[in-house]
Amino acid sequence: MTTSPIWHPFTQAKTAPPPLKVKSAAGVWLTLENGHQVLDAISSWWVNTHGHAHPAIAEAIYAQAKTLEQVIFAGFTHDPAERLALKLRQKLPDRLEHVFFSDNGSTAVEVALKMAYQFWVNQGQKRSTFLALEGAYHGDTFGAMAVGERSIFTQAFQDLLMTVEFLPFPATHWGDETVEEKEAQALAILQQKLEQNPQKYAGLILEPLVQGAGGMRMCRPGFVQQVVNCCQSRETIVIFDEIMTGFGRTGDWFACLKAQVEPDIICLSKGLTGGFLPLSVTLCSDRIYQAFYSEDPLKTLYHGHSFTANPLGCAAALAAWDLMDQAEPRFRSLEALHLSHLHRFQDHPLIENYRVTGTIAALDLQSDRPGDYLTPISALLRERSIAKGVLLRPLGNVLYLLPPYCITDEELSWVYSIIHELLAELPRMLA
Ligand SMILES: *Cc1c(COP(=O)(O)O)cnc(C)c1O
Repeated sequence: MTTSPIWHPFTQAKTAPPPLKVKSAAGVWLTLENGHQVLDAISSWWVNTHGHAHPAIAEAIYAQAKTLEQVIFAGFTHDPAERLALKLRQKLPDRLEHVFFSDNGSTAVEVALKMAYQFWVNQGQKRSTFLALEGAYHGDTFGAMAVGERSIFTQAFQDLLMTVEFLPFPATHWGDETVEEKEAQALAILQQKLEQNPQKYAGLILEPLVQGAGGMRMCRPGFVQQVVNCCQSRETIVIFDEIMTGFGRTGDWFACLKAQVEPDIICLSKGLTGGFLPLSVTLCSDRIYQAFYSEDPLKTLYHGHSFTANPLGCAAALAAWDLMDQAEPRFRSLEALHLSHLHRFQDHPLIENYRVTGTIAALDLQSDRPGDYLTPISALLRERSIAKGVLLRPLGNVLYLLPPYCITDEELSWVYSIIHELLAELPRMLA
């Protein structure tokens, strides 16, 4: 029996193939130890926005490391954090005035949930139920697990998760004729819940426009608007988890800008540092902040981490932010480019449907186990695609692309040609 000292994430070590060793990376390309080159078509778990090892971000980190690498963030502040907070505030909706730093996406969600819950506690109210969407993924810590779809990821912890009520998510795709019906049904359920018992809910959390880990499931901006209006007209706190959708992914700087709504709280991470360093932020409205602003010590948000607002992370985020203007024409135009390729799957016998939002494209493969994360199609495609030089990592039967913005038209065409090859080989692979 051989066992590795390293315990890898989301991996069953006994049955998984051994991990591939990466030597270096540049732009969209990863170079493995054996010299094999692989195009990172999923931005390494959706974090890398401007390509790997971008010199501008690398240099910003180096310069910051020589100046101030880390300092306690309680009772102290520093220039990179202050400048980053200002930039985020300038671009995000006016309502989002206050910036709380942490160091990963799940934690940004935990902070949001704690802000929403304690907002009511500080005003003498106990609202212990959250609203969330079916198919959601918000991270792997306990609060984040609780507001996510209950699945194989959370099964072992089921008994420990707090109370959450789920609304249907009106997932749609190209040519969907039932979308209005699905949206109306979801909104009716939300409306009914909020009318019957408005004091019950601490807040509603959702991934606006695209649910990531749930299978790149997409909804229309109009639905997001209606959910937000329905909640805010009844004073229910709306939390946007834009950990995946932020920083250009949906074709606008943020999904809330694309949907033209102002959530009360927003969580950002992944693309924040361009995928270089772990960092996250939770921004909230002044209404929420004011409920904590008090001479009463019990009204404090008692939350913080050793590496809160790490200066290296902030410097990377500032450098990544500076690249966004240059990347804007690209992240705005990738949707049309994806679509021109996706239409070629219209009559493909193995494709159930396809969809695109901004830089994110997804195809549902026909499967007798739809929605099953452990379908063998997934592992097969993952291995075969890497052998062909493309990093794809299907979510169950959902094959998706979420490339760094520096991918060229030719590289994207080549990735789609590899997908056609893989689909042609699939029946034989599964036989
Ligand atoms: C990745 C992700 C998270 C969790 O972020 P981590 O940094 O992996 O903890 C939360 N929400 C969404 C929408 C995500 O895509």
